[in-house]
Amino acid sequence: MTVLEAGKPPVLFCRIGWCTQYDGSEDPIRGGAGGGNDHERANFKPFKGTCYGCFTSKPHRTVYIEKLGAARRADSVPGVLVVFFATRPKGGQVVVGWYRNATVYRKLQESPGERPERSRGKRIRKLEYMVTAHAANSTQLDVADRQIDVPAELTGAAGHYYPDMKMAAWRRLVERIDHAIGEKFGVEDGATTDYVELLRRAHTIIRSTANADGDAGTDKPTATEVKRQEFKRSPRVVAQVLGKAEGRCDLCKRPSPFVDANDEPYLEVHHVRLLSEGGVDRVYNAVAVCPNCHRELHFGAGRKDLIKRLYRIVRRLRPR
Ligand SMILES: [Zn+2]
Ligand SMILES: [Zn+2]
Repeated sequence: MTVLEAGKPPVLFCRIGWCTQYDGSEDPIRGGAGGGNDHERANFKPFKGTCYGCFTSKPHRTVYIEKLGAARRADSVPGVLVVFFATRPKGGQVVVGWYRNATVYRKLQESPGERPERSRGKRIRKLEYMVTAHAANSTQLDVADRQIDVPAELTGAAGHYYPDMKMAAWRRLVERIDHAIGEKFGVEDGATTDYVELLRRAHTIIRSTANADGDAGTDKPTATEVKRQEFKRSPRVVAQVLGKAEGRCDLCKRPSPFVDANDEPYLEVHHVRLLSEGGVDRVYNAVAVCPNCHRELHFGAGRKDLIKRLYRIVRRLRPR
């Protein structure tokens, strides 16, 4: 699962000076626009679990966050993929890291003040930033991994760019980054407990150019507590519905596909109007169906027609 597919976040490209480590220990080497301030040296040094990102916002000192989906008067916008790029000492612009799910501010922000920065031994202004992200969502690429070129023709003298996805070169670049993020983070991005949503995301991947073979997934899937209402169901309704089915699916009329651990024909009792949607746990709202039909009743494109058919062919059902 990759970032773009998880809901197409807006993307902001930010030019920063070149450092081998953005941990606050090096002076950035200027490339391209440069100027501004030196705070970007610490863009990947978390402070209390958050990374504070700085970049050259000249000439306007303003990020037009409306272009990233913000409301007109908003001061900031969340959920942005911020890509930092820099000019290598030997030339050529490359991606050096990114913040996923970042908050981008319209104007330069001053930190709460706990972390004064130093430059060449001199105390300078308090940390300033225009983007923030949780440290866990911040990725700095090692120098050897800085392989994604940012073509010079895409950028000019400005310090930040809103990629124009209608342009093939921008699209290719964003897709490469998207793919790199996918490789770094695997399936944990976009992992979900919702099976219908999972399928939707999988099909987006199948259709996308970022879909490639290779290691997907994780050895440590994340567990999550799911809070949901479960309805207690009457075994007598199940017994009666199964009894009436006599081992055949109420929908396709074929015999149950296998016998279960009790040596009984296996069918699943399904509420035609779902309990979660106000259906009643009554024989006149329940059918016994084979696993195929059951899945189709829940997930099939034609499920509404199947329900109509059930109401026609299973006489005990009472539509409501
Ligand atoms: Zn069936
Ligand atoms: Zn069901």
